[in-house]
Order: sequence, then structure tokens, then C-alpha cells
Amino acid sequence: MPVTHTSFEGDSAEAASAARVRVLLPLPLAGAYDYAVPPGMNVAAGDFVSVPLGARRVAGVVWGQATDEVDAKKVKPIAARLAAAPMSDELRQLIDWVAAYTLSAPGAVLRMAMSVPEALEAERNLVGYGIGETGRAALADEAAKLSAPRRRVLTEASHAPGTAADLARRGACGAGVVKGLTRAGLLEPVELPRRAPLEPPDWRLPGPTLSSAQDVAATELLAKLGQGFSTTFLDGVTGSGKTEVYFAAIGKTLEQGKQVLVLLPEIALSAQWLQRFAQRFGVAPAQWHSDLGHAERRDTWRAVASGEARLVVGARSALFLPFHELGLIVVDEEHDQSFKQEEGVIYHARDMAVVRASLARIPIVLVSATPSVETQVNVDEGRYGRLHLPARHGSARLPEIRLLDLRRTPPERRSFLAPPLLEAMRATLEAGEQTMLFLNRRGYAPLTLCRQCGFRLNCPNCTAWLVEHRFHHRLQCHHCGHAEPLPPLCPNCGAAGSFAACGPGVERVAEEVALKFPKARAAVMASDTLTGPHAAAEILERVERHDIDVLIGTQVVAKGHHFPLLTLVGVVDADLGLDGGDLRAAERSFQLLHQVAGRAGRAEQPGLVLVQTFHPENQVMRALVADDRDRFLRLQAEERQRHGNPPFGRLAALIISGDSEDEAESAARAYARSTPHLPGVEVFGPAPAPLQILRGRHRKRFLVKARRNVRIQQVMRDWLARVKVPSTVRVQVDIDPYSFL
Ligand code: ADP
Ligand code: ZN
Repeated sequence: MPVTHTSFEGDSAEAASAARVRVLLPLPLAGAYDYAVPPGMNVAAGDFVSVPLGARRVAGVVWGQATDEVDAKKVKPIAARLAAAPMSDELRQLIDWVAAYTLSAPGAVLRMAMSVPEALEAERNLVGYGIGETGRAALADEAAKLSAPRRRVLTEASHAPGTAADLARRGACGAGVVKGLTRAGLLEPVELPRRAPLEPPDWRLPGPTLSSAQDVAATELLAKLGQGFSTTFLDGVTGSGKTEVYFAAIGKTLEQGKQVLVLLPEIALSAQWLQRFAQRFGVAPAQWHSDLGHAERRDTWRAVASGEARLVVGARSALFLPFHELGLIVVDEEHDQSFKQEEGVIYHARDMAVVRASLARIPIVLVSATPSVETQVNVDEGRYGRLHLPARHGSARLPEIRLLDLRRTPPERRSFLAPPLLEAMRATLEAGEQTMLFLNRRGYAPLTLCRQCGFRLNCPNCTAWLVEHRFHHRLQCHHCGHAEPLPPLCPNCGAAGSFAACGPGVERVAEEVALKFPKARAAVMASDTLTGPHAAAEILERVERHDIDVLIGTQVVAKGHHFPLLTLVGVVDADLGLDGGDLRAAERSFQLLHQVAGRAGRAEQPGLVLVQTFHPENQVMRALVADDRDRFLRLQAEERQRHGNPPFGRLAALIISGDSEDEAESAARAYARSTPHLPGVEVFGPAPAPLQILRGRHRKRFLVKARRNVRIQQVMRDWLARVKVPSTVRVQVDIDPYSFL
């Protein structure tokens, strides 16, 4: 294992008895704590240890040599060294790096790398039962008085041992039968491995024959493997074969005996990616995301640390897995905002993945059809390389995109689909093909108001309207999860049955589809109508099998699915994302609409995309229709440069929240009194946050804007240090903010 170890074991007896190390604990503490190394124990940086903390025992990581500043009487000894393979220098450096960059406690970052503490303990085998000599003899003896269940269990055990529960299930009887057989000496206890070993992906399996453009890209990418740190943007329209190209790089990395990390947004929804990987490399990849069960996470963590897992595909937190032999990182859909974690340690997994690659001195590939402005600028300025696939693979053509000006062809009253879109849907149905309707809004209606007095139903905890969800018969807050039934009377004027839904959500569009196309088989796909990754996979399979004619969905349908019969995409409200008002609203809209459009006509049939908008002249709509991504990105970059926005300048947000308006207000004033006055630094605020109240907390925001050469972390750190606020006030720093709510 390429782990460099600095040992702190003393050379002489005195040194050994006085040896002290710093141990970082996975807790939001200011730093590492000093602990004494007991005589006879040998620890090195990166070792996992168990230490006393107050009355508790906590697992942590040896972070380095201690200074002698702490009073010897206060330094407690390390309780035990844990079995897990030591954390690599590279991962420890990453943790310190992320903590410093995001202004988080290093322990809070470490916690992401130690999210399953049991994984640190030695793997224990399971107690199982197998057949012994006596059992075999009894089974062979026709005359032996064995009951039918006992005979079944013994027969099963003679094929393979198992746990009591496992044998009972296989023998179709209760666990009591297994116990009885054990007491009678016909079954014997045996040790079973806790889990089947992972099959390694097979890089020897042949991939498809690459087209010449794909081959050029793959060859260049392969040449970077094993050659130290590099960042490459793999560019190409959806369907151009980017996945095939990075699969080639994955195969080569596996062949070189290195591990691979693939980061995907919303991994839970990419059943198709998993299938494709399995087809290409013969086995399912190890996965890492929040929907996994505890035992699965524990096993995967261990398998990554031990090197048994050669490839992991995961959501952003997979970045902190304990790889020791990482050889390649791939970030697919690099522009996706779900890579930004908005709670706890606020970090951008794509950017921190580049940091990990540089610390590990390995290549990283960022993949997208619609890169972020940040990545495009990094390419333009020569920091990132670029490989380009110009066209869709095979006979598939890019779809034709047409705007439907809703001012000229409005939908009927109480409808949301304009006549030309309905017409196209009818033609598509008649041709036996599929339609996808995209609306990035969950629920039935975004706003519910009283027809008598205009009262709007608000969340009691947040500055937000409640959204009606008819599937669940409830009103819901999309910020805090608050849910309540629709009240029978208006709480304001007392009118009965006066509530009216305003505007559409996907459920309301589904209602319109059912009304206008009663024979069409329609399904809704949104994060709240899916009860987990299996529900998503099931709908996607039904679409593939053509059990569904019309799929109506939020952005969960936009991601990399490939449906050969899907030839029409209707965007119900293309203007929705433009209202965000933040510096990335246009970019985000373009990426999402482009991605949705890319679902149409992925196979032989040509695709058509109809985009309903009130703003056909908007830059985003024009770029979509003209298929001029590069010009759009250039305009966006110019605008950012003009305003000194990222990546041409730096941004940081300070979000202050308190239990009451007064508390938030006075804390905000305290920060305002000591705002930094430095060259190249501007401070805006305090302003009430757009989401003034969130989960019952009152919020104020500052935005700090600095020139690119300013060390904005230091500016923020100094500012925070100058201000004292009550402990009930929460202060969050968001470096490179993506959300301005
Ligand atoms: P992207 O990742 O750019 O969206 P994919 O790699 O998913 O593109 O390719 C789109 C489709 O074309 C997939 O079904 C893929 O299997 C197929 N494909 C791409 N390149 C080839 C190739 N060289 N030979 C055969 N099929 C290919
Ligand atoms: Zn709420």
C-alpha cells in the first residue's frame, strides 16, 4: 500500500513513555486533541484509535506529533488502536484542505470520512451451522426417524452451511428445527464469512468499437493515466459516447491495478448507469449513497479501505472514502448543482474532487454536455484540458427544438398544455411512440389561495407557500417538510371550500393528460412520488418496456436515461428557472432544458422538443433553439467577468440565524459594525434572506465579494474572530455560494 508512515514510537525508553500524539475526532471541535501513547503501543499518523473523551470512548485518527504545550496531567492515554487500515496521508491532507477552504472544523470534515464507525472494527465472522459426520450418516440412513422438516434442513445443510435463519428459510421451517438438530448433534456450529467477497470488475471484457472521434479522445485520456495530476473536461452532446470513452479510461486504470471513483449526481436514480457498467465490466459496481442500508455502507467502507472494492460509484460523499490506491476520478454531469452540499460542511464535491486528484497526483475527468461556466473558463485559461466528441453516436440525430410562444398560442382556460403541444402528443401517441412532459415543480399546485379573500396558505415555519400534493392529500412545505391537510374553512375569512389551486405542478399536468388523452398510459415521476431508488428504476423500466406512453416528471427525469421510443419532449414552463435571479439562474436553466431536450430521439427516430415560454427572446431560449451552447457560455462568462463574479472574482456568504427576529437582527448588526474594509473586498448586507424564516429560524445574509487574488477565507476568518454573538445564534459561512436563499 502506498501509505507513507511517520512513526511516533520513541527510539529510547524515555521518549516512548513521553510520546504524545494529536488525535482528530469526528466532532465539530476546534482542532485535534493531545493523547499519550501508552507504553508498548505503536502508533503512526493515520492510525485509527479509540480514545477517552469525558466519560465516552470515541474513535479518531492520529493526526500528527503533539507539542508539549498541554499539561501532562490533562493528557489521557489512547485506549486502543483499531483494526482498520490507516488513513492515507492524501486523505488526511484532503480533510485539512477542505476544512481550511470551507472554514469548517477539521473534525466535521473527518466525520464525513468516518461515517460508519463500526467499519473500523475487525470484521467478525458469523456463526452458522453445517452438517457433520453424524448428520450425514442420519441423512443417508433411510430408516432413521427424521421428521420431514429435519430431513429438508439436513439436506440443505449438506449442500451448503448457513445461519440458523438461512437454513430455516431454505428448509421451509422454523428456526427451532435448526436448534433441535444442533442439540441432537446432527448439525454443528461453523464459522461463516460475513459476506461474499466482491467480484472485481473485469477490464478484460471487450468494449464497443469506438468511432474515430471517440478513439482519439480515449487515446488521449489513456495517455494521462499514471502520469500524475491532470484535469480533463470531456465534452460532447448527450449520446455522443462520453460514457464509453471514460469507461475505456476506467478499464485501463483497473488494469494498472488502481482504484477508480466515479461521482454521479443523484446516484439513486441512475439504475441505467449501473446496468451499463455491469454489462461492460461483468459485475455491479460498489455503490455509495444515502439510500444504502447501514450494513451495506459498513461493508463498502471496509472494502474500499482494504482495496477489495476496485471501483466505487457514488454521490458527493463518496469523495471521502478511504481509498489507498486511487488512480482515476470521474465526475459525470460535472455542472450538476447537487454536487454542492448545502448543510453541515458546505462544500462543492466537484471542486474538492479536483483537490483530491491533485493531492493524490492522479488524473480527474469532468464530464458534461453543458459545462458549468467555471469549467469552461478553466478550459479557456488552460488549466483544464478538453476532449471533444462532436456528434451523437450512430444514426441518432440531435432533436429539433421549437419554442411555443405562450402569448401567441395560449393553452385553454385551466389548462397548461398549448394546442401545438397537444397536437404533437396526439401524433406521437398515434405513431406508437412516447412523450415526456417536463415541469420542474412537484405537487399539484405551487400556491393555494382563498377565492373569497385572497389569503395564501403559508408554512408556519418558513417564509414559503404551502404546495398542494394531491397524491398524498396534503399541503407541504418544500423547505422544511411541514405537512398539513387542506383546511375546510379559510383561516382568514372563514369561507367554506373556497381554496383554489394556482399554477401547475406535475400532478396537475398529469390530470390534464388523463383528461385529454384518456387512453394514454401516463405516469408521474418526481422525488416525492418515488418511494426510493427501486420505485425510480421500476418506472424507468416501464418506460423502456413501453408500458408508459406519457412520462410526466420533474428534473429527476432529465438525467441520463436513454429511451429509444421517446421522440417528443414537451417543456411545460421553460421560464420557471429564470426567476431565480442569482448569477447562475440562466446557466442552470440552459443546462436543465438542454438535458431534458437531449432525452428526445436518442435512437433511430428523430426527436422533437417543444418548449413553452413567455420569453422566446430570452438568451437561454435563443441558445437552445440555435443549439449554440458555446456562444451562450461565452456571453455568460463575459457577464460574470464584467461584474467580477466567479470564477473571475470570489464570493462568500455569511448566513446568520436566530430564534427570533430581534436576536437575528442584533447579531447581524454586530457583524455589520465590524465588516472588513479591505482593498478589493466589498461587503453587501445585512439583508433579510429571501427565505427570511426557515424551519422557525430568522435569517440574515451578508454577501462578500472579493477580487480573485484576495484570500477570502482569511477575510472571513478575521471577521468572524472580531465578533462575539450569543451561542443561540448560528453563523454559517458559505464559500463559493450556489444558493442565495
Ligand atoms: P453520452 O455519455 O455522451 O451521453 P453514451 O456513452 O451514453 O453517450 O452513448 C450513447 C449511446 O450510444 C449508448 O447507448 C451507447 O452504448 C451507444 N454508443 C456510444 N458509442 C458507441 C460505440 N462506439 N459503439 C456502440 N455503441 C455506442
Ligand atoms: Zn416550512
